[in-house]
Amino acid sequence: MSSLRPIEIVGGGLAGLSLGLALRRENVPVVLHEAGRYPRHRVCGEFITGLDAGTIARLGLQPFLADALQHREVEWFLGDQSVRTQRLPQPALGLSRYALDARLAEAFVAAGGDLRVQSRLADPTPQPGRILSTGRRRCHRSPWMGLKLHAIALPVHRSLELHLGENAYVGLSRVEGDRVNVCGLFRRRELAAKNGEILLAYLQACGLSDLAARLGQAARDPDSFSAVAGVAFDPRVSSDAPATLGDACAMIPPFTGNGMAMAFQGAELALAPLLGYARGELSWDAACTRLQRDLRRNFRVRLASAELLHPFLLQPPRQRWLSALTRSRLLPLRPLYTLLH
Ligand SMILES: Cc1cc2nc3c(=O)[nH]c(=O)nc-3n(C[C@H](O)[C@H](O)[C@H](O)COP(=O)(O)OP(=O)(O)OC[C@H]3O[C@@H](n4cnc5c(N)ncnc54)[C@H](O)[C@@H]3O)c2cc1C
Repeated sequence: MSSLRPIEIVGGGLAGLSLGLALRRENVPVVLHEAGRYPRHRVCGEFITGLDAGTIARLGLQPFLADALQHREVEWFLGDQSVRTQRLPQPALGLSRYALDARLAEAFVAAGGDLRVQSRLADPTPQPGRILSTGRRRCHRSPWMGLKLHAIALPVHRSLELHLGENAYVGLSRVEGDRVNVCGLFRRRELAAKNGEILLAYLQACGLSDLAARLGQAARDPDSFSAVAGVAFDPRVSSDAPATLGDACAMIPPFTGNGMAMAFQGAELALAPLLGYARGELSWDAACTRLQRDLRRNFRVRLASAELLHPFLLQPPRQRWLSALTRSRLLPLRPLYTLLH
């Protein structure tokens, strides 16, 4: 029997699973509750920016990312018009959540983790030894919704594309198996369409007709369709619940492709204080204080910068301004992508 104090993780997305796995490698007893099961599709653009080799090595993620595609450039579109192709400071990784989450879950179990799927903890409150990685906080008043679908062998201009529409933006990211993830953030509208067809209807409605036509002609995997409503972005690291990680702690706008890296980086930052707690060297309060301080230090600037830029990707007058800057190569996105590392 382990003499280490146990850790309970609520939420088996990337933050919870990678933390659970890293703790298991140090022999800490871990119970992980996940409301859903694996594999499963999720609303996510499925490209990862800003995940560096240090984090990959410290969390032992290399085997799970080995076949991820490497996107070196991103092509920006305003409406149906290509505006600019931008080289990324470091390649973004393209891999589906369907594959990635399932691989991590399997490794967690193989490492001796106690994974309880279809186990939703009703209203999980913070308590010693419990980490909340329950994903984005819902805001019912938010008009923003996310839609995602995999298209098979969809012709693309680049392996990563970002399309700005009216009160919407949509990413195309190639992932494994000749699939292209089509995922967008849209202001909610009343549209008469259902399931996968609703994504096509939204593309049309927000002025992305070329993309809608391209997607309309491609084979689509209906099982991959996922949707989420009430998406909100909080630019601050949550201080009311000190033991939170990933989106539950702070959510960066999706256009950055940095939410998944932040989930992993949060797990990496949590490792030392949680090991201190498990070994009896730190009280729970001291471990949480240290975790919060490190999360704030690491994420504050990127959250604030992304929040500042976000309206420029969504609102037509600001999109035109952004597009003009982009054409004149004064693109404020490059410094942002550099900040994400
Ligand atoms: C439209 C959109 C596009 C995006 N595109 C990208 C992108 O291209 N690149 C990128 O890096 N990021 C992207 N993101 C963000 C990214 O998906 C998240 O940042 C990332 O998934 C956060 O991981 P997480 O582990 O914190 O949460 P999640 O992956 O959401 O996992 C949380 C888990 O907790 C479980 N759970 C919740 N409540 C309970 C409970 N009470 N009991 C038990 N289990 C519970 C849920 O079932 C879920 O599995 C996008 C987000 C949106 C909305």
